[in-house]
Amino acid sequence: MTSDAPLYKNHVLMLSQTFFVKDNEAELLLCAHKYDFDIVFFNEIHAFANAVQNDQGNSLFVIDLDALHNMQSDMQDSRKTLMLSELLARLPATHSYVYLQSVRQGGRFLLQQRLVDSNCLAYAEKPIANDVLVDKLFTLFVQKRRGDLVRLIYLGEPVGLDAAALLARRVELIYHADPQTLHVRVKELQPDIVVITDLEYERTEAVVRVLKKNIEADPVREIALLQHAPDTALTRRALASGFDAILPMTDPHVLGEQLINRADKIRVNKDLIGKDRATGLLNKIGLQKKAQDLIRQASQENRPLAFGVIDIDKFKTINDTWGHYFGDIVIKRLSLCLSPHVGERDLLSRFGGEEFVLVFWDCTLEQGRQRLDAMRTAFGAIAFDIGNGELRHFSFSGGVAAYPEHKSENELFLRADAMLYEAKQGGRNRICAAPGA
Ligand code: GH3
Ligand code: MG
Ligand code: MG
Repeated sequence: MTSDAPLYKNHVLMLSQTFFVKDNEAELLLCAHKYDFDIVFFNEIHAFANAVQNDQGNSLFVIDLDALHNMQSDMQDSRKTLMLSELLARLPATHSYVYLQSVRQGGRFLLQQRLVDSNCLAYAEKPIANDVLVDKLFTLFVQKRRGDLVRLIYLGEPVGLDAAALLARRVELIYHADPQTLHVRVKELQPDIVVITDLEYERTEAVVRVLKKNIEADPVREIALLQHAPDTALTRRALASGFDAILPMTDPHVLGEQLINRADKIRVNKDLIGKDRATGLLNKIGLQKKAQDLIRQASQENRPLAFGVIDIDKFKTINDTWGHYFGDIVIKRLSLCLSPHVGERDLLSRFGGEEFVLVFWDCTLEQGRQRLDAMRTAFGAIAFDIGNGELRHFSFSGGVAAYPEHKSENELFLRADAMLYEAKQGGRNRICAAPGA
């Protein structure tokens, strides 16, 4: 590949036995690449510890404890096998680790306790299938990431929550004063969490039903009652009327921590559901939800949107000629090539296979066509090494439709897809955007 941007966003440094790695390396890497991370293997603790120490980003560090068996202790001259405690002591304490242990090790509680208290991020039991391990590591990456902002609307008297501290942990706190307009605000801002104080709930008991019964309400959204004093009857009524959780009001700092925990869970769930693992872009589900939100905002703010669908040309031939693995790399490069072209309020999604959808905020049909065309040129300029230093260029075709000419996400998609079909019919490597219906 001639482009020098790294192909994978995340890295795993893995300390393992030589034979385990030899048997598994290729398959493990293949699985990892589908989840947007690469693995660097080590079979020697010095090099591993150095690499951990020098790591720049947020890599994960995995240690196969079986590696102990074929590692020699260099503390003494004897050819003694490295002890667990010795290994743990040699790992940089500034980082945390994922330990792969045997079932036998896991069955011994004291050993287990020792491990979880030794800078342990997580542990897994072997044998573990490569795809399962990769999937679990991926979840850890998602949890480690800074992640999207979680929006929280609070109805009632403020209780001294530290908005700046919440924001630092990626939670945006918005106060709302009037129970009778809360549903309108929720519709407009689409928060992930709604907190209602017991006082406001007692005043307007229908408030949560109005939020919940709206067929368009986000089912993932959490609605919590903030209760100042225990009142079992009120708690029962609140649960019956649709609250998901009851939060006791003890101390603003404790409440803040609880809200942050809930926000972290919501964020991870949203990521796992709405994002493509291989590229980290929105998937079809994530795109549909965000596009609907964007259309709502466009109608409120009276702005146009351009909706683009692109599809790599003759991709079956790419797969058939150079293999599926090479095909995956082309998809990956395309996603990396598109990303810098999208703005803060635009959407970029891997809609499926080698098909991507883009939504441009405040953008007309013609501007959308031009932007897709610039992306087409940029992708066409990437030289792919197909072996022996031989280079090839690939292309994609695209179709564009616009809001408000087309009103719904589905209508926009169908129209843009029809335009994509025209681009393919017209000879490929082009963008089509015909005005009208
Ligand atoms: P056209 O120019 O008309 O788009 O021709 P095409 O060969 O690209 O046709 P089409 O878009 O229908 O083919 C898509 C192919 O992409 C079919 C499928 O085998 C392959 N594919 C889908 N998802 C993936 C993937 O994640 N990785 C790889 N390597 N191939 C995929
Ligand atoms: Mg296709
Ligand atoms: Mg195609």
